Amino acid sequence: MGIIHVLDDHIANQIAAGEVVERPSSVVKELVENSVDAGSTTIDVTIEEGGLQLIRVVDNGSGIEQDDCELAFFRHATSKINSGKELFQIRTLGFRGEALPSIAAVSKVECTTSTTKNGLGRTLIIEGGTVRSFVEAAARQGTDFKVRELFYNTPARLKYMKTIQTELGNVSDYIYRLAMAHPQIAFTLRHNDNLLLQTLGNGDLLQVIAAVYGSTSAKQLIPVQEESLDYTVQGYVSKPEWTRANRSGITTIINGRYIRNFALAQTILHAYHTYLPINRYPVAVLHITMDPSLLDVNVHPSKLEVRFSKEPELLACLVKTIEDGLKKVNLIPQGGQQR
Ligand code: ADP
Ligand code: MG
Repeated sequence: MGIIHVLDDHIANQIAAGEVVERPSSVVKELVENSVDAGSTTIDVTIEEGGLQLIRVVDNGSGIEQDDCELAFFRHATSKINSGKELFQIRTLGFRGEALPSIAAVSKVECTTSTTKNGLGRTLIIEGGTVRSFVEAAARQGTDFKVRELFYNTPARLKYMKTIQTELGNVSDYIYRLAMAHPQIAFTLRHNDNLLLQTLGNGDLLQVIAAVYGSTSAKQLIPVQEESLDYTVQGYVSKPEWTRANRSGITTIINGRYIRNFALAQTILHAYHTYLPINRYPVAVLHITMDPSLLDVNVHPSKLEVRFSKEPELLACLVKTIEDGLKKVNLIPQGGQQR
């Protein structure tokens, strides 16, 4: 008699949650990315107690069809890809179909959604992965997603949470970067009724940067734009007068996805040569656009890390972006490198 058996969905989701839902900021990230993928033009995020009490994301996107609501909480259930081939042509932020079941496994979820403008929708309540109710409700078009008492049923994970301030810091850091990645979306972020960020959604990246870093700092930015065969780079980099104590001011966005990549950050730093004071780092917000088939985002569940083909070409394009930017403010004389 064999002793191996396939785990039931409930346990499988709790295991997956360990990977996908590390802390409040991971929940915020997954929910807000779904809102972006749903074509929203406004996304309002409210959190309480660093997100451990409440995370609420309200969007005006497509909404979820009534027949899809429960299905959306199944593992590997997604509307974003159909075939293995599409895995190499990802144009959405999500595609793994893991977030909702993982979040629902470790919290109390209330999701109200509507695909129409007739004021009617449905509310689905799931606690610890078990559906409690699914009823008609008044709703605007879009999705209103509430996650309460994160990790209430996984005490070991709850114990591992840091202070409210640290958790809030992680959440706001992520929202700031996503807002910079999507200047055409109006974002708000509130914590315990304090408004921490508000962007207009008018497509002006500089205004979003000013909302994040303050308008005085934003005046120290140089607009940049560069194109190579396969890549375009566009955004803002700081004059060497405005530096920071660490690399956190570098935001690289590829096809609308904020990503962390050591080689990209290192290249940006090197491109500044000796213009930066020692141990000081620039601010750079760069949108990189490329054919999605050159990009592998299926590296890690969080999709913060990616791999690209033709990396040398991209790095060279980045160097040129920064150098041309510095030339504009006459730090590098036209036609040559200053040493
Ligand atoms: P993925 O984003 O990888 O597809 P998720 O578990 O995050 O997987 O979401 C499952 C599905 O639920 C999505 O594919 C989408 O169809 C739907 N969905 C989730 N959030 C929203 C939202 N805010 N608006 C519209 N549809 C949503
Ligand atoms: Mg998703």
